[in-house]
Amino acid sequence: MRVLVVEDEPGIANFVRQGLTEAGYAVDVAWDGQEGLACALAVEYDVLVLDIMLPRLDGLEVLRELRDQGRQTPTIMLTARDTVPDRVDGLDAGADDYLVKPFAFPELLARVRALLRRPPLQTGTVLVVDDLEMDTVTRLVRRGDCSIDLSPREYAVLEYLMRHPNQVLTRTQIGEHVWNLDFYNESNVVDVYIGYLRRKIDKAHAVPLIQTVRGVGYRICAGDDYA
Ligand code: CA
Repeated sequence: MRVLVVEDEPGIANFVRQGLTEAGYAVDVAWDGQEGLACALAVEYDVLVLDIMLPRLDGLEVLRELRDQGRQTPTIMLTARDTVPDRVDGLDAGADDYLVKPFAFPELLARVRALLRRPPLQTGTVLVVDDLEMDTVTRLVRRGDCSIDLSPREYAVLEYLMRHPNQVLTRTQIGEHVWNLDFYNESNVVDVYIGYLRRKIDKAHAVPLIQTVRGVGYRICAGDDYA
């Protein structure tokens, strides 16, 4: 899943980027409000971590503009100010959650996970497709009785598929939600990772869960739903 961090303080931005990257997210950083707004409009992020005090355009203005343009990207606001009016302003501007600096990284991580549980994405901490299960807290994956060992990137591709069961996802969608801005769109990296996942998840089973939709992309669905 892909996260945009809009934060002008390098220490905090780099700390958050490193932590989220280690937790398996694809992360981009924008360093001021205008850059953040442009990024958030250009890419369909899964979560936005947005500082309030930002140069050029503050976080509240960024969020209002984003919501005015119909973008519902789940958003956590970060701020050093912990007064009731600030929290109210943030929530009124369309924030989904609020975190006061300084914060402990595990709390930010838990809040990001909580936002990813909201509809229309699959809710609950354990994602299930047929006999395939992914625990998004422990990051354990198993199919039937077998546990499956995945690399962080394989896990990220599978998580994106499992959060959108039965939906056809294009290579571009998968790429954009799993890799950050350094992702090269023309490459076949998505097909390569789907190949890795098939070997680990489907190869030993009679019913494949990952399907190729010719000319479009991929989807994951239960064997019963095979069309
Ligand atoms: Ca700031």
